[in-house]
Amino acid sequence: MPHQPGASYFADLEPLLEQVSKPIQYVGGELNSTVKDWHVGGHAANGDDLTVRWALMYPDAYEVGLPNQGTQILYEVINECDNALAERTYSVWPDMEALLREHDLPQVTVDAHRAVGDFDVFGLSFSTELGYTNMLTALDLAGIPLHAADRDESHPLVVAGGHAAFNPETIADFIDMAIIGDGEQAVLGVTDLIAAWKAEGRPGGRTEILARLAATGGVYVPAFFDVDYLPDGRIQRVSPNRGGVPWRTSKHTVTDLDEWPYPKTPLVPLAETVHERMSVEIFRGCTRGCRFCQAGMITRPVRERSITGIGEMVEAGLAASGFEEVGLLSLSSADHSEIAEMTKGLADRYEGTNTGLSLPSTRVDAFNIDLANELTRNGRRSGLTFAPEGGSERIRKVINKMVTEEDLINTVAAAYGAGWRQVKLYFMCGLPTETDEDVLQIADLAKRVIETGRQVSGRRDIRCTVSIGGFVPKPHTPFQWAAQLGAEETDARLAKLRDAIRSDKRYGSSIGFRYHDGEPGVVEGLLSRGDRRVGRVIEEVWRDGGRFDGWSEHFSYERWMAAAERGLAGTGVDVAWYTTREREQSEVLPWDHIDSGLDKDWLWEDWQEALAGGEVEDCRWTPCFDCGVCPQMGTSIEIGPTGKTLLPLSVVGGGPRPGLEA
Ligand code: SF4
Repeated sequence: MPHQPGASYFADLEPLLEQVSKPIQYVGGELNSTVKDWHVGGHAANGDDLTVRWALMYPDAYEVGLPNQGTQILYEVINECDNALAERTYSVWPDMEALLREHDLPQVTVDAHRAVGDFDVFGLSFSTELGYTNMLTALDLAGIPLHAADRDESHPLVVAGGHAAFNPETIADFIDMAIIGDGEQAVLGVTDLIAAWKAEGRPGGRTEILARLAATGGVYVPAFFDVDYLPDGRIQRVSPNRGGVPWRTSKHTVTDLDEWPYPKTPLVPLAETVHERMSVEIFRGCTRGCRFCQAGMITRPVRERSITGIGEMVEAGLAASGFEEVGLLSLSSADHSEIAEMTKGLADRYEGTNTGLSLPSTRVDAFNIDLANELTRNGRRSGLTFAPEGGSERIRKVINKMVTEEDLINTVAAAYGAGWRQVKLYFMCGLPTETDEDVLQIADLAKRVIETGRQVSGRRDIRCTVSIGGFVPKPHTPFQWAAQLGAEETDARLAKLRDAIRSDKRYGSSIGFRYHDGEPGVVEGLLSRGDRRVGRVIEEVWRDGGRFDGWSEHFSYERWMAAAERGLAGTGVDVAWYTTREREQSEVLPWDHIDSGLDKDWLWEDWQEALAGGEVEDCRWTPCFDCGVCPQMGTSIEIGPTGKTLLPLSVVGGGPRPGLEA
């Protein structure tokens, strides 16, 4: 029987499940998952289909992809629309990929096992560039041509989002469009435009709907832009090739998080996943100004969810999911203006219950220890993590991480003194202006940490783990012009640090050392700051078997370098040109036409300030220093205090307490 659009493939899939690893990941039916009628939006009088259907993908394995907050939020927001539906799909492991190919079966959703190719929109959320090859696998399995130029009316519109979409140029050939920034409002706008176009009988086909979307200024359609290059390989200009398309595409910013309390009903995975907890995003954005941090820069300004909104989300999410742990998420959770009241209120409410609270936060100060102590009133105090990022005081000034060695020592003293046994410290190697000496100071710091810990705790069984990886300069940051350190130099520097840590017998066994070698960082660097010419490299790698590049057991540096040799042949540029080359101020960067709100001149000034070792304060608590985001995006910093210092929650165990609002 010919395949009906929207029909389930589960009957075909089921016999394959016993032949693959972790079959449960392909089954769906999780608590809070949704399957809507394929024709939920109904039909026009002439019979035209009016439903807008999204297949949403986090391009990694189910165990990594399911907890992804962005995908869960969009899934719920779209499914709340009367005329739209959303289903999820994740990357299939190579064993399943082989079976799907053998049995001529497509990439399907986990919700209703519908073919991804049957949907109107195929949306992928990229947290990292290393997911690009997984996109190609999914497109190919779905029967969607890899190149946007080869698609026709029968294929979904392929859209990229997420942080890695802030430079969509390396995947420009493969996507029809990119949505930059916060997705929850944006997907509804896109859904409305597609719905209207369908209701009109799809005038002008695929090109017309893409043109309508691009005309909003909030959807980037790579096919509507031409890139010209200079003889030396640099970009001369990027310009629209049709009328009605703005020169720059703006990011989307949700201004009031309390109006978007998603996910309301968190998905509860059937198979084991990396996070077995519900998460509540307590604020978005970060203005601390760490110069290496793309996440902080591109999510400006800071927008806090109110303490009331957070309390309600925690209560509703726990009731809907049955999770026993709540993570209070953000880029730096201890910075919420009401974090102390929030953690105390939640700890009071859930004291004596099975509900645990966690606060992923890396700020280095004693206040953070107080928070961590509060959240573990009854629990075990195992490990705390801090991210000084740079080994020496000098390099921490360069990266604008305003942490002195004394801050760090005081913080770890407070931690060990409060009963914590293990402190993890995160660093980066290869930061601009860095020398061996900056990195070797990490060994001295770690020894001081152990020494301090032994003194304040009176114990010798305390530990400190140093975790370090190579720095990758990212678009839309002050370091977007910087030269990346090569893989060999990174590895040599890390080897010296390892030897320095291990050489001292008094401390060596108390200090753990974890490092990521330099090679994956070079590929990430190529993909992060690449342009359209890098698309051929991605495709070559994929054709050569590249899959799951974010997983060290699947990643092959040799495969990437061989593919780059072939893919970039004749262009005059190579991997080093994209990675270890410092850019000049005048250079047109591949992502300049993507408007993150940050003023390029301000970024350049901050880059110069970095080289001079100058620091910049957090604009949350100081006057604006003109990064450009607020005026450009029509937004402003949204922080408390709200005046509501208590959660609107009663205590779960032992009845209400005086002072807590019921
Ligand atoms: S425009 Fe000013 S207030 Fe807004 S994020 Fe930038 S520096 Fe901060």
